[in-house]
Amino acid sequence: MEINELHALFLECSSASTDTRKITKNAMFFALKGDNFNGNVYAKQALQQGAKYAIIDDASYVRSSQTILVKDVLTTLQQLASFHRLYLKTPIIALTGSNGKTTTKELINATLSKKYQTVATKGNLNNHIGVPLTLLLMDKFTEIGIVEMGANHQKEIEFLCSIAKPDYGLITNFGKAHLEGFGGIEGVIKGKSEIYEFLITNNKTIFVNSNDPIQVEKTKQANIFTFGKEANVDVQIGFIEAQPNVKVQYNHLIINTQLIGEYNFTNIAIAIAIANYFKVDDNFIKEAIEAYIPSNNRSQVIQTGTHKIIMDAYNANPTSMRAALLNFEKLNDKIKVAILGDMFELGHEAEKEHQNIVDLASTQLLDKIILIGANFYKTKIVSPKVTTFESFDDFKNNFNLSELEFATLLIKGSRGMALERVLELL
Ligand code: ATP
Ligand code: MG
Repeated sequence: MEINELHALFLECSSASTDTRKITKNAMFFALKGDNFNGNVYAKQALQQGAKYAIIDDASYVRSSQTILVKDVLTTLQQLASFHRLYLKTPIIALTGSNGKTTTKELINATLSKKYQTVATKGNLNNHIGVPLTLLLMDKFTEIGIVEMGANHQKEIEFLCSIAKPDYGLITNFGKAHLEGFGGIEGVIKGKSEIYEFLITNNKTIFVNSNDPIQVEKTKQANIFTFGKEANVDVQIGFIEAQPNVKVQYNHLIINTQLIGEYNFTNIAIAIAIANYFKVDDNFIKEAIEAYIPSNNRSQVIQTGTHKIIMDAYNANPTSMRAALLNFEKLNDKIKVAILGDMFELGHEAEKEHQNIVDLASTQLLDKIILIGANFYKTKIVSPKVTTFESFDDFKNNFNLSELEFATLLIKGSRGMALERVLELL
């Protein structure tokens, strides 16, 4: 079946779905394959649950007038999304970067949705499957699409751009994340900059943080809209403080956010700049940003019993770990304990980067530092404030939790460490 014919069928459907547990009536079901599952197995069930069509690539499971056999379901999903994007002509803003993509995406969506009908990436669905699914959420009523793009190796952003074909784009930051797949920080800069290459080649617009010299350098030949702390930019945003929450100045307004950590300043500034570009009323921008509360363990502040917790267990890498520690040190709280878990995907830089974090934390004004994981366990410890545990179980079985009474805790580690489990122990 040609892609335009498939698209005509898609327009009859209510949505695109890859998961029978979440299928809605009249959906188009895509039977994707993974390492541990084969969606073809579920095609029949998807149809029984009300899907209008099932796209399959293995005819041995089910054949009916509602199944459409293709060579490869994933490729078909991507081609359909690409076709749909051209069909709709919705202006699309794409964003990538090492840290803060989802937070920034949510903030952009919060501000733009005050004035426009928007569709944004759901949660963190930012890869070769998530980006197509995001595009397929858009319809003829969508006025602006906001697409998060994640990557852990070269050419990934280039590929996602070829599907989403953004009209606008930005990079939140260049940091030490996914060093293994990218090949060091130089590799990160190169890989993330693929979004710039797409936008420049196609004469599109880039939102540039003028306080980031790499961004400024890389976008010299581009159509740019700039923002930053100084006056020589299109949108000036002032940083006031991050105590306890980030407070910023924009035109005559003071915006009091519910976000902690100075690192969130950039994420907020991006959203303000984009909303300004799309002419959202200043008061609506303030309202939207002030109402935003982070979720899913992304720098969430939690109060339980005798503890205040900065729950940042969603993910970690050397750049975000450092930012979190520097912010933590600045807090005025009386007793401060950092509970840090291993950072993954660092390849041969793992040993050095874990040691750097230990060295930084050891010199900080913190009361106690608890390190959990095989990588941290191998570091050289010189400070008596530091205790290491080889694994989460080691920590659970051997640490006396009463030592944490009345302390403010920073909890941060890679997703695989699932440090939110600390909460259950308290
Ligand atoms: P992922 O790669 O999983 O998609 P992401 O880039 O979408 O991550 P977020 O989910 O927005 O990032 O934020 C995750 C964590 O990253 C936050 O809880 C915070 O600790 C840290 N973080 C957010 N923004 C920044 C920033 N600008 N600089 C450094 N660290 C940041
Ligand atoms: Mg994300």
